[in-house]
Amino acid sequence: MIKAVRGTRDLLPPETALWNFVEAAVRDVFRAYNFHEIRTPIFENTQLFSRSVGEETDIVSKEMYTWVDGQGATFETQMVSEWMLTHQDEIRRASHQRVFENRRGPDLVVQMANGTLVVEFKRRTVNQATIANMKQYRKSLAAAFPEQADPKLRLVFAEEPSQFVRHLADSNGVDVEVLQLAEYEPPESLTLRPENTAGVVRAYIEHDLQKRGLNKLYYIGPQFRRERPQKGRYRQFYQIGAEVIGPATAGSESPARDAEILELLATLLDRLGIKDWTLQLNSIGCADDRAKYNEALRKALDPVKDKMDPDCQRRAVTNPLRVFDCKVPEDQPIIEKLPRISQFLDEPCRQHFQQVQEILKSVGVEFQLNDRLVRGLDYYTRTAFEFTHGALGAQNAILGGGRYDGLSEALGGPAAPGIGFAIGEDRLVLALSESAEAVYRKPDVYIAPLGAGMNKEAARLARELRRHDIFVELGDETFRLKKSLETASKMGAKYALIAGENELSTGVLALKNLATGEQKAVPRTLLAQVIQS
Ligand code: AMP
Repeated sequence: MIKAVRGTRDLLPPETALWNFVEAAVRDVFRAYNFHEIRTPIFENTQLFSRSVGEETDIVSKEMYTWVDGQGATFETQMVSEWMLTHQDEIRRASHQRVFENRRGPDLVVQMANGTLVVEFKRRTVNQATIANMKQYRKSLAAAFPEQADPKLRLVFAEEPSQFVRHLADSNGVDVEVLQLAEYEPPESLTLRPENTAGVVRAYIEHDLQKRGLNKLYYIGPQFRRERPQKGRYRQFYQIGAEVIGPATAGSESPARDAEILELLATLLDRLGIKDWTLQLNSIGCADDRAKYNEALRKALDPVKDKMDPDCQRRAVTNPLRVFDCKVPEDQPIIEKLPRISQFLDEPCRQHFQQVQEILKSVGVEFQLNDRLVRGLDYYTRTAFEFTHGALGAQNAILGGGRYDGLSEALGGPAAPGIGFAIGEDRLVLALSESAEAVYRKPDVYIAPLGAGMNKEAARLARELRRHDIFVELGDETFRLKKSLETASKMGAKYALIAGENELSTGVLALKNLATGEQKAVPRTLLAQVIQS
């Protein structure tokens, strides 16, 4: 038997009623705050995520569902590319990052030809630096794949190279091929979205949404991460999120936006009846103070990092802020003693954070300051927050978010400060006190056609009633009355309506209240009124 893939699951009725209940409430709240829905594709170019979420994050380095797509993607290139993916740590260790980035780019093709690894670079123009880079790639690849000590490098480009470049290529064992690049359709590296902010910001840039001033956008949809599945953690999970993004002149940087987002979230959780949530708040600084803080962290980590778990050690070197995300218990005493960002905030940044807190106090939203809260993603600046919920156990983060003032520029767009959040919908549903049964809508009436030929009449009757917004279930003329009544009771219908030949010819129908057992004769013209009363 073929089952749902590990980490994915089917949502069945009545549980889906709970999801719809949540989504309807969420849409109502967003409407009250003038947010509008955006739907971005479920897959995007891999580079979008590696650039925005950050190569160093768990999401990009281990958890993405990525594949090579397109005409150029033969089975072999896919296989080799997957193989390179599993060797990515070695590649990373062996070389500078360009190899890794380019592997994901559309201009690099990796193939296996007669047992030799062939790495083909597509370039529109070629110069001395290109050849120098290729020599570097050869070294990295040889170190990363010792079994392929001499990978073949091929350079493909549009123009005839100069004598000098051709000579350089020859002497470095680089095959040179001249091809009309226009004819070449590079395979693309695509990825199922692991989060939705990157897609929204890409759309902001692509559609020049800055023209609209401040954009207040929300989304609801599935995200994908190859994480170890457990309760509250899935490989296909759902997020409800929002982004406020626009030019600074439209007020996108204002602390009022941060506070409004947080107040919206408090309203939303209250509206869903979710109690016992805690808002944890921090400021992770602006560009300048972040740089100083990172420096101080590096200094503080330098003498102690060797005592830490290897993963934390790696973070200490590559992205020291992320050391705060280390969960290893033995490392906590070291982490406790590290300098905190709160001591490093520069004046404008500190004031921004102060104002966010003042507005929250004025609207009565409680929060806890937590200067260990850093958020794992590279593009966050200033306000960072998380809402946790006691009932969720280990996976207690119900939502997270923060400012990402530099993201649009990092993706090649205009300056566009922004702030957003993502709620884990799966966890939100788990935290609800509402039961699925309570919000699952049951039929108002079950129509029981009695006798041959009565399906036609019953269908007409159903059509009349449904026009009045009555929730109708239809039986079948082959069912005996007893079976129809049992079916109706089982599905929780309020009434059963008996549609026999007699009833239809006299225009007076038998309507049975299934809870009380009381049966009334009701003229057809009054049926809707009686059922709805
Ligand atoms: P992040 O995008 O990592 O900040 O996550 C935002 C929220 O999404 C978290 O607070 C969780 O509630 C939820 N979330 C993240 N990953 C998963 C997952 N694998 N399964 C279920 N929910 C998740």
